Amino acid sequence: MTDITADPNRPETDPSVVPLVPAEVRPRILAIANQKGGVGKTTTAINLGTALAAIGETVLIIDLDPQGNASTGLGIDRRARETSTYDVLSGGAPMRDAVLATAVPRLFIAPSTMDLSGLELEIGQARDRAFRLRNAIGEINKNTQGAPFTYVLVDCPPSLNLLTVNAMAAAHAVLVPLQCEFFALEGLSQLLQTVDQVKAALNPQLTIHGIVLTMFDARNNLSSQVVADVRNFMGSKVYETVIPRNVRVSEAPSYGKPVLVYDLKCVGSEAYLRLATEIIQREKELKAS
Ligand code: ADP
Ligand code: MG
Repeated sequence: MTDITADPNRPETDPSVVPLVPAEVRPRILAIANQKGGVGKTTTAINLGTALAAIGETVLIIDLDPQGNASTGLGIDRRARETSTYDVLSGGAPMRDAVLATAVPRLFIAPSTMDLSGLELEIGQARDRAFRLRNAIGEINKNTQGAPFTYVLVDCPPSLNLLTVNAMAAAHAVLVPLQCEFFALEGLSQLLQTVDQVKAALNPQLTIHGIVLTMFDARNNLSSQVVADVRNFMGSKVYETVIPRNVRVSEAPSYGKPVLVYDLKCVGSEAYLRLATEIIQREKELKAS
């Protein structure tokens, strides 16, 4: 199936071809955040991004973790990261210069490098330090030759540091992965407090988009208990879709592939496709309200 929206670098198209999306679209920007490590932020960024792209959205993943797991998991070689999110946030390189195509049509990534770990020290005193990402994303769909991005997913580091604050200051909403484990809710109130602080001081429109429960293990009673507790505590903010613990999901990054490419039929892929559909549905409801 040919798709004229697939390549953002495509030359001027035939004027008789009506673009599928208007040229000046503001992307929806979601920060994927939780200060705990290993809860599924990066896995969600990669696979939700792939699922959204598979159903026709044009998606940019911004890797804001110095570990660069989202970049590696999408098969981006370290040597290919010539312009990284560090260059964008520290030196004012345009975001477009950092954007690389992935093997998935309509899915792009702005990769990170370890340099990013020094950013806070470097720009911590700058007046615009919390707005570096917002300003960089603001330019992303200007003068675009290809299909504009409709979704931007920011993969945050496992900390409530300046990088995560930049992501929240740039985002419309925060998507919080919570692992189905005993301490799932621990730290959530601190995260919600940070969201409130960013909302009050930097970004009045910021909301919680939703909470996605990850690594659910049906054989483990504790997993079901955690789902019940989190739904009880956070109500409708919790997505219906729960991501199961699935070995295919954890294998895929070592092949530099999203799980939807590695094994489309596995339960992990199916869950991320359902999550993408649910998110788009929620977006429609938000727009209608
Ligand atoms: P974070 O970005 O929050 O630190 P990751 O997305 O890197 O977390 O996930 C932590 C680890 O758990 C990784 O090794 C990843 O492959 C694994 N993992 C994440 N989600 C699943 C899942 N649904 N099933 C199995 N393993 C998973
Ligand atoms: Mg991560």
